[in-house]
Amino acid sequence: MRRLLLWCAQNRWLASHVPRWRFARRAVRRFLPGEGFDAALKAATDFKAHGVGALFTLLGENITDLSEANKVLQHYEEVLAASTGIGAEISVKPTQLGLDIDAAAAYANLQRLALAAAKADSFVWIDMEGSGYTDRTLDLYRRLRQQHPHVGVALQAYLYRTVSDIAGLLPLKPAIRLVKGAYAEPPEIAFSAKREVDANYLALCAFMLPEVKRSKLRLVLATHDVDLIARAWRFGQALEMERSQMEVAMLYGIRTGEQLRLAREGFAVRDLIAYGDAWYQWYLRRLAERPANILFVARQLLP
Ligand SMILES: Cc1cc2nc3c(=O)[nH]c(=O)nc-3n(C[C@H](O)[C@H](O)[C@H](O)COP(=O)(O)OP(=O)(O)OC[C@H]3O[C@@H](n4cnc5c(N)ncnc54)[C@H](O)[C@@H]3O)c2cc1C
Repeated sequence: MRRLLLWCAQNRWLASHVPRWRFARRAVRRFLPGEGFDAALKAATDFKAHGVGALFTLLGENITDLSEANKVLQHYEEVLAASTGIGAEISVKPTQLGLDIDAAAAYANLQRLALAAAKADSFVWIDMEGSGYTDRTLDLYRRLRQQHPHVGVALQAYLYRTVSDIAGLLPLKPAIRLVKGAYAEPPEIAFSAKREVDANYLALCAFMLPEVKRSKLRLVLATHDVDLIARAWRFGQALEMERSQMEVAMLYGIRTGEQLRLAREGFAVRDLIAYGDAWYQWYLRRLAERPANILFVARQLLP
C-alpha cells in the first residue's frame, strides 16, 4: 500500500486531476489549516499560546521554471517579516528553489533566504527529498553552512548512508532535523522494515545527543513516534541534558495532543504548518505514512 501510494504521488495524470475533486480537497484539510498563509499564521499564533513553535512550509516541489523560484523567495521573505513576533522558522525543498534546473541558482536562492532569516532572527530548514537529491542537497547545505549559522538540513534515518553523512557534517556545527524518510527507496540503499528504520533512528540519536549536550549540534527529532522520542530522551537524561535542549517537530494535524503534552513537559516543540495549493504529492506521502488515513479520505465521499 505504501509503495502504491508513493507511485500515485509521482503520477502526472492523478497530480493534475485529484486536486480538482471536492472530496479530496475536503480530506486534505485534515493536514492543512487552509491553502493561504493567513490560515497558517493563525494556526501558528494559536500554537504559540500553548508553548508550541511553528515551522512554515509553502507546498511545492520540482518547479520547471526559475521564475517560480523567485515567487517562492519573495513569498518567504514576506513570511519571515510577518512572523518575527511568533519566532517561526521556515522549511523549503531545494527543488522548489530550482535544483532540477540550475544548482547555482538554487544555491543563490538559498543564500538569499538564509540572509532574510538571519535578518528576522529566524531559521531556514532544507527538506531532504528522494535519494536522487541527497548528494546535491548536502553539497548545498555544506556550502551554505560555512557562511550562515541560521540554516539546517533534514536527514533520513532509513538511508544506510546517513550515519556517515552526519559524521561528515559534524565539524560544521550543523543543525540536523532527523526524520525517518518519506520516499520510496530501494533496499540497496535504505532499510525497508519499520523496526530497522526505528532502530537506526535511535542509534543516530545516541550518536548525536552528546554533540547536542556540548552545543556542537542543533538536533530536531522530527517524528510523531512518541515512544521513540521517549527512548531518545532516556539517552538525554543519561547525559544530564535539559528538556529544553530536546527539540521535537511534528506535522500539523498529527498527534496534536502529544505536541501539547511534550511542550507542557518542557521539551522544545514545533508544529510544521504546510499551506498552498500544490498539496497533491505532499498529501499522498502523508497517506503512505499511515494507510489507515485512506479510510478518512473515503469518508469524505459520503454526504
Ligand atoms: C517536522 C517534520 C519534517 C519532515 N521533513 C521531512 C523531510 O524533509 N524529508 C523526508 O523524507 N521526510 C520528512 N518528514 C516525514 C518523515 O520522514 C516520516 O515520513 C513521517 O514523519 C512519518 O514517520 P514518523 O516518524 O512519524 O513515524 P511512524 O512510525 O510512521 O509513525 C508513528 C506514529 O505517528 C502517527 N503518524 C505518523 N504519520 C502519520 C500520518 N501521516 N497520519 C496520521 N498519523 C501519523 C501514527 O500514529 C504512527 O503510529 C518530516 C516529518 C516531520 C514530522
